[in-house]
Formats: sequence, C-alpha cells, structure tokens
Amino acid sequence: MRLLLVEDDPGLGPRLQSALNRAGYATDLSIEGNDAEAMGDIEPYDLIVLDLGLPGRSGLEVLTHWRQRDNRTPVIILTARDGWQDKVEGFKAGADDYLAKPFQTEELLVRINAVLRRCAGLNPGDLSYAGLMLDESDQSVRLESGTKLSLTGTEFRLLRFFMLNPGKLLSKTTLTEHVYQLDSDKDSNVIEVYINRLRQKLGQDLIETRRGQGYIFGQRD
Ligand code: CA
Repeated sequence: MRLLLVEDDPGLGPRLQSALNRAGYATDLSIEGNDAEAMGDIEPYDLIVLDLGLPGRSGLEVLTHWRQRDNRTPVIILTARDGWQDKVEGFKAGADDYLAKPFQTEELLVRINAVLRRCAGLNPGDLSYAGLMLDESDQSVRLESGTKLSLTGTEFRLLRFFMLNPGKLLSKTTLTEHVYQLDSDKDSNVIEVYINRLRQKLGQDLIETRRGQGYIFGQRD
C-alpha cells in the first residue's frame, strides 16, 4: 500500500511519515497544497492523509479538486480544527474519515486500516485470504498449517497489496507503484525477486504469472 501524507507541520509530518513507514506503508510526504494536489493527480495512491490548513492551497480545495476529477482515492482528513462545521465540510467535499489533532498515531493507523478494508470491500479485522492470515501488528503471516513466518518490509507491503486485491491482474508497474514510495530506488524487475521470495515462503501456486501482463494472487483451485 502506498500513501500520500499531506502535512505542513515540520515536526509532525516527518514523524508521521516514519510511523507510517514502520507500519508497512510506503509513504510520500507533501508539505504544500498545490504540490499535494499534483501528486494526488499523478500518483496512484491507495489512501491519502490530508491536513486542512496548508500553505498554497487549502486541504478542502485540494480534496474538492480531486473529487471533481473523479479521483476516488480514500481520504482521511487530519486537522486541528475540530468544530463540527469543518467535519461536515470535509465529508461534503468527499472525505472518507476525519481525525482531529491532537491524536495518537495508533488511532490514525487503525483508521487507515479500516478505510482501506472498507474500500477493498473486505471485513475489518485480520486480513486473511486463501488460507493465509496477515498479522499487521508484527508484519508476519500465518499459514493454513498454523506456521507463522516473518516477512521483510517489502515482502509485507507486497503481500498486503495482493491480499487487498485478490483475483485481480496486477502488472509489475502497478505493483511497483503501490509498494514503493517516490524517494526509493524503484526497479520493477526487483518485484519479480520479491514475488519469488513470497512463493518460496507461501507456496508456488499462490501467485500466478501471466506472461507479459503481470500477476494474479489467490487463484488456487
Ligand atoms: Ca497545517
């Protein structure tokens, strides 16, 4: 999963970005409204955390612009303003959830998790598919046999993206865009290496290769 975090507070922004990285989300940080708007237009984010009070362009204007362009990426609004009018304005502009500052990072993480599940049409709680259960608290996976395996950061991000998109044909480019953030060294051929590692850990038939097209997760019948 790849997130856009829009937060101009020089302390909170980088701190949240690190916390989101640790929680297994590739996260780009934007500190200005116009930049944020352009990034949201161009990059295929899975979710956006958006502060309302921003230099350049307000979060509300940015969100309104995205929705007018039919950008349906889920958005969680983050702001110091906790008046009910601001919440109503935020939801009217197309926000999916709202969190007032100050907040605990833990609460933001569970809200992100809940919104991502809801948007993927999955039940909240543990992410499970095809006999696998992903444990997001320690970034491990439990097999049908009960064996628990730990995953590296990239393996975890890749498997979570697959588990939230079962049965879909996903190209190498798509996988790269959703697993890595902008400032990382992305090479779509590396995805192949990680897919092979997941196959070695979880079983060869879990991820099907469609030559020249991409991969499909969870086609075991
Ligand atoms: Ca702000």
